[in-house]
Amino acid sequence: MANPRQVAIQTIATAKHQLNRVDFRKAHVKDLFGIHVFNEEAQRQRLPKSVFKALQKTLRQGQPLDPTVADAIATAMKDWAMEKGATHFTHLFQPMTGLTAEKHDSFLVPRDGGGAIAEFSGRELIKGEPDASSFPSGGLRATFEARGYTAWDPTSPAFIMEHANGSTLVIPSAFLSWTGEALDKKTPLLRSMEALSIQALRIVRLFGNSAPKKVFTTVGPEQEYFLIDKNFFYCRPDLINTGRTLFGARPPKGQEMEDQYFGSIPERVLACMAEAESELFKLGVPVKTRHNEVAPSQYEIAPIFEESNLATDHQMLVMEVLRKTADKYGLACLLHEKPFAGINGSGKHNNWSMSTDTGENLLNPGDTPHDNAQFLVFCCAVIRAVDKYAEILRLSIATAHNDHRLGANEAPPAIISIFLGDQLNDIIEQIEKGGAKSTKQGGLFETGVSILPKLPKDAGDRNRTSPFAFTGNKFEFRAVGSSQNIAGPNTILNTIVAESLDHIASALEADVKSGKSLTAAVQALLPTLIKEHKRIIFNGDNYTEEWHCEAEKRGLPNIKNTVDCLPVILKKETISLFTKYRVYTEKELQSRYNILSENYVKTVNIEGQMTAYMAKVLLLPAALRYQGEVATTVNATNAAGIDNSDQLDFLKKLTAAISPLQRSTNDLEKALAHLANGDAYAHAKHMRDKVIPAMNDVRKAGDTLETMVAEDLWPLPSYREMLFIK
Ligand code: ADP
Ligand code: MG
Repeated sequence: MANPRQVAIQTIATAKHQLNRVDFRKAHVKDLFGIHVFNEEAQRQRLPKSVFKALQKTLRQGQPLDPTVADAIATAMKDWAMEKGATHFTHLFQPMTGLTAEKHDSFLVPRDGGGAIAEFSGRELIKGEPDASSFPSGGLRATFEARGYTAWDPTSPAFIMEHANGSTLVIPSAFLSWTGEALDKKTPLLRSMEALSIQALRIVRLFGNSAPKKVFTTVGPEQEYFLIDKNFFYCRPDLINTGRTLFGARPPKGQEMEDQYFGSIPERVLACMAEAESELFKLGVPVKTRHNEVAPSQYEIAPIFEESNLATDHQMLVMEVLRKTADKYGLACLLHEKPFAGINGSGKHNNWSMSTDTGENLLNPGDTPHDNAQFLVFCCAVIRAVDKYAEILRLSIATAHNDHRLGANEAPPAIISIFLGDQLNDIIEQIEKGGAKSTKQGGLFETGVSILPKLPKDAGDRNRTSPFAFTGNKFEFRAVGSSQNIAGPNTILNTIVAESLDHIASALEADVKSGKSLTAAVQALLPTLIKEHKRIIFNGDNYTEEWHCEAEKRGLPNIKNTVDCLPVILKKETISLFTKYRVYTEKELQSRYNILSENYVKTVNIEGQMTAYMAKVLLLPAALRYQGEVATTVNATNAAGIDNSDQLDFLKKLTAAISPLQRSTNDLEKALAHLANGDAYAHAKHMRDKVIPAMNDVRKAGDTLETMVAEDLWPLPSYREMLFIK
């Protein structure tokens, strides 16, 4: 009888997938975009003029919404949604699980005497009260006082989510406790954006620009992911329950040929991508690029940037739509940071900038950045922030999943540093020495082929190894994990830059007040800032051993894992930063510390339990069966009087390989059973120091057996199969 692995391969070989599920020849991209969004156009068409104006005022200037207009908006939204098949509405929020949460309510209201009407009031639009006692609150709320409220976020438009039998009106919302503490990731993000806006406007005003009323942070998050056949996925309890493979020997061919990056996209995958994109277009998510990534079966999707709050909501949709769509094509979408050991993991490149509401990108250097003082001020503010708060930035990407990636040879290291590129680095060096006089220009690119056009050359090369790189008119924070909600990292980025801008604005304002010209004030301030913070700038290869030594000499923090990162939340410096800008209260920070510690414990505990389970009921039985087969052969040849010393030798080797699996599994189970005294953090330490090493030992024993046991007995699809059979 074939084992599940073999059945999976046979099924894949003969499967017929329906690939032509969308047709862009009939439904054009431009006609699809935003059709499921209650966007400005829909609002203008559907709302009374005065209501539309009031809503726009809220959206553009951040003014609180007049509650009296909420009923009119709710009714218009409901009518619009019902025309698109909606039966229910839901407040979509982002609890501390890192996922999204939704509870659906129908529009239906039965009427006395029979019949029913559809109703949706302004009150229901503005506020929801899910019984939210089971979401992690990190001690912010006891279950006996479990009230949690969702509050409509009008700055992220409502949309329609279709399902097989209808659709749901989805209302992006914040999630707060009865006492007003943030229980989610959206609320702090919105607070951080406001904090940055206030400080950035001070700088913009100093430079004489009074037109902007708001500064937005903008984000364009690139998402990396794997797609493997679902038949394999279902044979891997580790992938199903932990998101990553806990066993798997290195395949003979991995990614060493570098033949996958930007390679031609397999047909089934391309069809899946096209449908996912079409769904995202309908939801108003401006997805722009797709390509094969470095690892086999790894891909990337990237949108055009938007203001951070919307970009975050859209990013959550990207992950959800990718997962759902993959399923329709017989694929499983893996968003874990490191699904396959020894193969590149996945990240989320968080491209970040600041922009005025009048459309000026404040990190756009222009053609001659050396005399673009406003740009240099904003740029130095970021440099200062990243240096001063490197530990907090590192904290923003610390998860058990991302620990497998940061510092390995493919992802940026756990050491936070900034890459500026030749051009900007040259200017910064000039400023430090007393003033920037010139900008290195790129010139033209010589191809050596007369029929090719002469291409303008960028002034600097790219760097793919830096965790935080200036890429022309934005910074790219590359260390964010592929399954992370980007709200967290952006909340922190916005807050540390807000503090920096505050510091700089205060210095410049004081100088100007005392009679100095702004130019003189800037010329005095920037060299000091650069001297103080240039240790964070590194333009070389961040993967090398030399950089690790150099970084240590410079005194840059190198926090290698999540457990070491977590105490940063409770540092005095962290608390005063976040409370000063009203992004997190002290209580909220304490709750994040608890939740993140618990999260780490739970993640590793599930992995540990799964490792032991798989070792016992999948791997050991396969190994014992094979041992039995070999022993039978050895006995039979022995009985026939044939020299079988090599076979006997193999039986000994096999037996010697099975014992470590059993012993290490026992050790792992002991480590898992150990109840640490103390809090979640003490537990987390135990997980890191005892459980993870024990898991690694079991894996090592399992992977050794994978290369010894007959393939027809081995139950788990191998790396070779999962990554290359498409
Ligand atoms: P690269 O090729 O350097 O990765 P792209 O121009 O393709 O750069 O952009 C990568 C991502 O950066 C895209 O999602 C893009 O929308 C985003 N991006 C571009 N400009 C900005 C900006 N001002 N703020 C935030 N993100 C941006
Ligand atoms: Mg990329």
